[in-house]
Amino acid sequence: MADGLPMQIAASALPARVRIHEVGPRDGLQNEKAVVPTEVKAEFIHRLAAAGLTTIEATSFVHPRWVPQLADAEALLPLLDDLDDLDDLALPVLVPNERGLDRALALGARRIAVFGSATETFSRKNLNRGVAESLAMFAPVIARAREQHVRVRGYLSMCFGDPWEGPVPVAQVVTVARQLIELGCDELSLGDTIGVATPGHVGALLSALTVEGVPVSAIGVHFHDTYGQALSNTLAALQHGVSTVDASAGGLGGCPYAKSATGNLATEDLVWMLHGLGIETGVDLDRLTATSVWMADRLGRPSPSRTVRALSHKE
Ligand code: MG
Repeated sequence: MADGLPMQIAASALPARVRIHEVGPRDGLQNEKAVVPTEVKAEFIHRLAAAGLTTIEATSFVHPRWVPQLADAEALLPLLDDLDDLDDLALPVLVPNERGLDRALALGARRIAVFGSATETFSRKNLNRGVAESLAMFAPVIARAREQHVRVRGYLSMCFGDPWEGPVPVAQVVTVARQLIELGCDELSLGDTIGVATPGHVGALLSALTVEGVPVSAIGVHFHDTYGQALSNTLAALQHGVSTVDASAGGLGGCPYAKSATGNLATEDLVWMLHGLGIETGVDLDRLTATSVWMADRLGRPSPSRTVRALSHKE
């Protein structure tokens, strides 16, 4: 079991390979209390790429007033220019509106993500507008990105439960998901923003999306481990044909001392399960773990990832 290698026994009907969409530098750091220096962020992203991650969400072009942790996007992206030489590497950035798109395109971003909500209340709290108005705001962003051959991911948050509205009906999520696809999103990321989903609910949503014509190849899943369900939910999604999974190195963004703690699934915990199932990820788990230990030192607190803790306390 040493050296980041679980015993491998495959299970039936699972994908041969999973693409991990690493969200640590964006979703993770955005939800950490500490503001990390730009040079540390750049080194973090280089280390993640060296550990074999091929999709690394780098930063956000949301107004710095709302996300001060990521206010340095303009300074950060030029520090990643050397990574352009890596053919397989994608560095998507979050873009809230046309102004954000202009800033991202000016820096040569080739992939963007927009951030929508399946519920009215969260949409109003997070975006200051309802679901329909937020989609109207995204429409020109997505259209202009596509004109420039920039790939667009659509985050859909609160797909299972909402802190104000409670359980979210599957049909409501399907409606917004279809609208994002119709606007031109290449991929959706279904978010369990408060971590309340359980595997049957995941299966029900994915089945409904398939019935309504949203191809499983266009779906990624974004689970939070708030109630300890993130890996169970991931396995349910894999059994439904999903092969894109979001995770945050070291469980960044799940800092127990931060008010906004929401418990992103740790990439190491995900990789341990996937490698145990014989599913390829391209990730070197030891290198990734070392990166998360390094970042935990920068943040001044241990990683909440079980796998990081297990692998970094082996002697
Ligand atoms: Mg998250």
